[in-house]
Amino acid sequence: MILSLPDGSTQSFTYTGGTSAPIPFSYAVSEPVGSTLTFTATATSNSGATSKQPATATANVIAGGLNVTITPAKVLLEPRLRHRADVKPSQVASAYKTPVDILVTDMFGVAITGASVSLTILTVDEGFGGHDHGNWLPPKLIIPKPKGIIFPASGTTITGHVFTEYIGNEISSLEKIEANVYYQGCSLTATSSAITSEISNLTQLAVNSPHFKIGGTDAHHGNNWNGFPTTPDNNHWVSSSTAAKMNIIMTEYPKKFSGAGLYINDASLPKGGRFDAKGNWLDPHQTHRRGIDIDVHTLDSTSQNVKSRLELIKLSDKDLFREILDEGNHLHIYFYPN
Ligand SMILES: [Zn+2]
Repeated sequence: MILSLPDGSTQSFTYTGGTSAPIPFSYAVSEPVGSTLTFTATATSNSGATSKQPATATANVIAGGLNVTITPAKVLLEPRLRHRADVKPSQVASAYKTPVDILVTDMFGVAITGASVSLTILTVDEGFGGHDHGNWLPPKLIIPKPKGIIFPASGTTITGHVFTEYIGNEISSLEKIEANVYYQGCSLTATSSAITSEISNLTQLAVNSPHFKIGGTDAHHGNNWNGFPTTPDNNHWVSSSTAAKMNIIMTEYPKKFSGAGLYINDASLPKGGRFDAKGNWLDPHQTHRRGIDIDVHTLDSTSQNVKSRLELIKLSDKDLFREILDEGNHLHIYFYPN
């Protein structure tokens, strides 16, 4: 039997069991968190004697007494970008971090002062950004993905609020903020909506003969290369303008140089961000973050020859690419941002 007690009401029932029994009841709370409520039980025995046993409980231990709202509810950021002179600090500053407001009220919407709040970041999708760190062959150490940070990560509410900041990682991600809130014996865990950090609108570069895609590894997947897993193609994602310019190169190159082709190696991951090529989250591929960098290996010629060939093609389109870096065993074509 569960009694339901409206505020200020009295209910009675008959108990016919042994000498003692728990009396479960529900009560519709109408007081602020932290109020002290008094429940009084009066028992009359079948022998006619009456005893009064006052019992007390406090509203602050009743679940649901707190409301926690995390703002922003949903936000799209860019992974933190570095290593490039053309990424201005002012662009970076607004793109990879966001102010966060933790609002704590009681169940009637009244702001609470003095609630303690502690915050952690949850990774929603480990594979976001095209990485695959769970498929090593042979098994190797799986290193957890670095997360964004929240700073400060704890605080005490003043008229309901703790103001803090989420700072995204250089790696594209899908994360949430978890807030653990405590106030006068009442605790609640709340989780924010998704915080996405990505370079949006990258497209998969299409490559046809006489050119070939290469560069897949078991850390990020891509076209077959030394027996690594091959699907999906996570290492040939570029901005639309880079795709257009690279298509010109892939058309003109065999036309001008007797059918010669190129190995097209790493560009960017599907969601951009720091390109983890070796599964340790540390190998930044330095640039390769916004879909405007493509590594090219040569099929039939030396790097120096290929470099001068590409510069020859550029003569008919001065905006074809920005520059070509000779990175030893390959060339790195650096295109213009959109
Ligand atoms: Zn490169």
